[in-house]
Amino acid sequence: MNVFVTGGAGYIGSICTEELLNAGHSVTVYDNLTEGHRSAVDPRATFVFAEPEVEGNILNAVRQAKPDAIMHFAASAQVGESMTNPKKYFHNNLVNALKLADAAVECGVKKFVFSSTCATYGPPDRMPMTEDLPQRPISPYGEAKLMFEKVLVWYQQLYQLDFIAFRYFNAAGASETFGEHHRIETHLIPNVLMVALGQKTHCEIFGTDYPTPDGTCIRDYIHIRDLAQAHMLGLQPGKSGFYNLGNGDGYSVRQVIDTCEKITGKKIPTVEKPRRAGDPPRLVASAGKAITELGWKPKFPKLEDIVSTAWAWHVKHPNGYPD
Ligand code: UDP
Repeated sequence: MNVFVTGGAGYIGSICTEELLNAGHSVTVYDNLTEGHRSAVDPRATFVFAEPEVEGNILNAVRQAKPDAIMHFAASAQVGESMTNPKKYFHNNLVNALKLADAAVECGVKKFVFSSTCATYGPPDRMPMTEDLPQRPISPYGEAKLMFEKVLVWYQQLYQLDFIAFRYFNAAGASETFGEHHRIETHLIPNVLMVALGQKTHCEIFGTDYPTPDGTCIRDYIHIRDLAQAHMLGLQPGKSGFYNLGNGDGYSVRQVIDTCEKITGKKIPTVEKPRRAGDPPRLVASAGKAITELGWKPKFPKLEDIVSTAWAWHVKHPNGYPD
């Protein structure tokens, strides 16, 4: 298949691009490199650098690539930042996504695979979380993703644009070649590993008074390569729907730090901080729907394996990508 990948220079997009190419698909990566890195774009892909804000850029790129499918990873992805700069999130994650969906319709694209998020649910009233839970996001990040999910439902119904929206839980880990490097790192695992590398003195724990056994937030970590496999299955024709992607195991911030200490053999000093705005206490997926309906089989469900691959990448690339 010919696949148009937005955000293919970013963490998740780069590894999905790699897996698509390994599986024999051809890929055009579209990225403005605000979050991504040029050297994270697989050299086998065609690269288009263009600002999505400029009228016509997205449509022209899709028109030229003539893709069978679009995978839309490009997004602003910090829950905390979305609470202080909501405008950025509604523009980038909703308005730019809408331009892409319009281009998909205009160019007769058959499938739209969208990176949604468990943040669309807000604090859930039962666990593990299934796709039919009410969606009550508590951050502009979650809200903008939910708004675009609704666009996809209408576009499928009225323009016959099939879509698969994956609601990611916490993507982590690395492939042998590509890994996680954000210019400003906010995510837990890479931050802890930067302490292990001696690049930071300590790791901050945001909130120790949550209603969880050790008082810190619980998340469901999923290996980036398992996530990429799900995207490949999302290309199957004739299917549309929403799917959670997680392992069904919840780990607290303290448990993640302990696992990182075990894998790296380094002591991780921590400093307790107040809660971060917009963080629900516990998010754990039921991915039963992806398993039964898409045939998804996670290969690296253990947190140890997820952290080991992330650590191997960080040791090999202590300063991340060069650009
Ligand atoms: N977290 C933390 N210290 C950090 C980064 C994150 O305590 O340096 C916490 C954060 O508050 C959340 C969990 O770790 O409860 C996972 O955060 P992350 O940013 O990795 O992913 P999110 O769940 O926000 O998508």
